[in-house]
Amino acid sequence: MGKKGHIPVRMCAGCRRRRPKEELIRLVLKDGGKLVIDGERTRPGRGAYICAERECFQLAIKKKGFVRAFRGKFRRVLPEEVSRVFQEERECQK
Ligand SMILES: [Zn+2]
Repeated sequence: MGKKGHIPVRMCAGCRRRRPKEELIRLVLKDGGKLVIDGERTRPGRGAYICAERECFQLAIKKKGFVRAFRGKFRRVLPEEVSRVFQEERECQK
């Protein structure tokens, strides 16, 4: 076990609450504007952090949290994309 100390905190792109980094999902934008979950949190590139809640995904889309996080590179996420990303996350946690 690593020693406890400073816990990095990130802001959710949806609800904008600040939470410990490991409670958030990291999303990265791949070439072509595809949104993927960075399970290891080590992928290069600009990332956005979000709570593992569908509501936050929707908020991030609606309130342009992703657009902000990805500095305009993010165009649009389809609802199916959101569902897919969620499915992956659920599987990761098992
Ligand atoms: Zn959130």
